[in-house]
Amino acid sequence: MLNNAHHLLLSPFRTTRKWLVNRSNAPVITLLYHRVTRLESDPQQLSVTPENFRSQMRYLKDNFPVVRLDAEWSGIARPSVAVTFDDGYADNVNEALPILEELGVPATFFISTGFIGSHQEFWWDDLERIILKNENVPTRFTIETGSEMREWATKSAAERARLYRDFHVLIKKLTPEQRGQQMAWLRTWADVAEQGRTSHRVATLDEVRRLAQSELVTIGGHTVSHTRLSALSGDRQCEEITGSVSQLESWCGRQVIVFSYPFGSRDDFTAETIEICRQAGLFRAVVNIPGQYHQWTDPYQIPRNIVRNWELPMFKRKCASFWLS
Ligand SMILES: [Zn+2]
Repeated sequence: MLNNAHHLLLSPFRTTRKWLVNRSNAPVITLLYHRVTRLESDPQQLSVTPENFRSQMRYLKDNFPVVRLDAEWSGIARPSVAVTFDDGYADNVNEALPILEELGVPATFFISTGFIGSHQEFWWDDLERIILKNENVPTRFTIETGSEMREWATKSAAERARLYRDFHVLIKKLTPEQRGQQMAWLRTWADVAEQGRTSHRVATLDEVRRLAQSELVTIGGHTVSHTRLSALSGDRQCEEITGSVSQLESWCGRQVIVFSYPFGSRDDFTAETIEICRQAGLFRAVVNIPGQYHQWTDPYQIPRNIVRNWELPMFKRKCASFWLS
């Protein structure tokens, strides 16, 4: 939604300026995916169907150099594209990888190591399962956040949708421990098990290794607990960043030099986060802010453009706008 509004507001001046900048230094646009699978419902719009993903990748392959995120980009002569995935869902290995291999498209997978092999879903999926997919919950939900008590009515679907939205915002700001407590309380309230849905499964260690074995794949860090780094002290941030990177290195037997900040918007990481990445010797880190990479772009704030479940004509239009946004 935000992206659409943004593109509608592009002025002819800005577009012309971007076009001239792109002519002087070939840009790289980095695409951000999360999942390739077919879901019954997808409230966060994280999933692209295998059919759409195949047409998207074929279009990229036929029209642009698709570059690796861990490669040197200084010699790039033509506008290029990089493909990335965040989080570490099982479908990345089972549904996306076969398509990437069939078409020979390289991609980077950023993995939150603390979830690998877990029977639990990522918390944003678990919220959907507990609140939206569950009609048999009590009619009110109450929690204590700091000194404040908050209460939601949860009788109707609309009321539950509101709790889902509000809880999402609230949970995102918490430390891993606080989040664990709130999620446990929510599950107790709704009387649902910890075991997640197969359709929302996180990759196992074997699957991560299989992914890493592909010649086309770069593995990157995405913290241990998928916590907003700006909510943590410097020491905790360092543990989350270097902990996920070294865990992936020992699992996959290769060096990990790229990283993605969880959530990745401007207020989800800080100057200290960037400094930790630099000191840890990482080569690049990516954000979740649209734009292009140029030679002068901060290597620890590489912009990325989110891809939704678009059919090819829409994907082509969106790609055209990514070059000029
Ligand atoms: Zn993520």
